[in-house]
Amino acid sequence: MPTEFTDALPILETIEAAGYEAYFVGGSVRDTLLNKPIHDVDIATSAYPEEIKRIFQRTVDTGIDHGTVMILDHGTGYETTTFRTESTYTDFRRPDEVTFVRSLAEDLKRRDFTVNALALTKTGEVIDLFGGLSDLNERVLRAVGKAEERFHEDALRMMRAVRFAAQLDFKIDEETLEAISANAALLANIAIERINIEFTKLMQGTAASYGLVELIKSRLNNYMPMLGNSDRDLAALALLLQQGQPTTDNQAWTLLAFELGLNPQTTGQFLKAWKQPNDMIQIAKASVSVMNDLRSKDVDDWQLYQTKSAITTTLAAIRLSELNVDVDRLEERYQALSIKDKKALAINGGELVKELQLAPGPLFGEILANLEYQVVMGQVSNDKEMLLRAAVEFVQKEKK
Ligand code: ATP
Ligand code: MG
Repeated sequence: MPTEFTDALPILETIEAAGYEAYFVGGSVRDTLLNKPIHDVDIATSAYPEEIKRIFQRTVDTGIDHGTVMILDHGTGYETTTFRTESTYTDFRRPDEVTFVRSLAEDLKRRDFTVNALALTKTGEVIDLFGGLSDLNERVLRAVGKAEERFHEDALRMMRAVRFAAQLDFKIDEETLEAISANAALLANIAIERINIEFTKLMQGTAASYGLVELIKSRLNNYMPMLGNSDRDLAALALLLQQGQPTTDNQAWTLLAFELGLNPQTTGQFLKAWKQPNDMIQIAKASVSVMNDLRSKDVDDWQLYQTKSAITTTLAAIRLSELNVDVDRLEERYQALSIKDKKALAINGGELVKELQLAPGPLFGEILANLEYQVVMGQVSNDKEMLLRAAVEFVQKEKK
């Protein structure tokens, strides 16, 4: 047992001493059996949330409606969830109600895939009710029970299937795969943010290529924002992902936008449709601009500056043979920029207002943006006197 589990053993023991059952469950059990590092330890218990709160002094109600209470123990928080079943999914995405039950078997039955439905006792015994161990050995991702029904209950599970296949390097079981193909349209019921999380993880998986190919084959992309008519581009991305995978969310989405043939502006629209955060959108737009240009010409320092160096790591993660670029040289150029951020300008808005004796207003934003550009491009050195002089020139030019 890894230390994450042994550290948490007193929690299981305390719950059991109070007369309830408790097990380790979910991804941490799966990943341990695969000899992979684990992040968070999840505990499932027959004790109701109120009972857990009576047993332990320090708890936080992190998801009490779903039965989840966090137990605080020596600086570590353990998510403890009461055994539960989920009933009647009328909207293909969340159960109408969760019912707490006292049976581990009932709880494991509602889990998505057999390898995610294993439980581990405090003595290290694996409880395997759905053939999860044999699927784990054969590296197969299989829905618990009837795949068809499970995807009707919660359509997000189809995205989770391709995501886990990509992350774990597992093959998706035939029947599970057929059920995804048959029910892909149900994905339309799922919030973009949740699809986004799964797709982002998929692209970074060691078997991202396989996961993406299955996603395309089952037509899931038809129900993903602005990817409905992109089979060929996605297939090209799948090929690329065979050589290496992005290691950050920014890299993944930049690469996707590039493979879709988007320009900086359409990259912005695409990422907005996916509800990506603004800082990612800015960096991806800049990176796509650099990558598109590198096909036929060199890029300037202003373009490099706007990528915030993300471009060099993106290009290093994915060896884009079609771009034939010297990544080290790009990185050197980035490092040699006289500023990396506009906060590093040797003058600020307040000082400009004072020195130029102008009323504050939108002009100042323009002046600062111009100074930033000139400093990055090496046209003006980052020195207060020089910047003031450049600012005066800029204002005079604007007045004409
Ligand atoms: P990760 O390493 O990505 O955290 P995980 O298996 O722990 O993988 P979580 O999303 O953290 O995945 O969920 C924890 C467990 O809860 C899963 O292993 C699975 O048993 C169950 N689970 C999570 N989401 C669903 C779902 N949509 N349908 C059924 N079971 C689910
Ligand atoms: Mg988890």
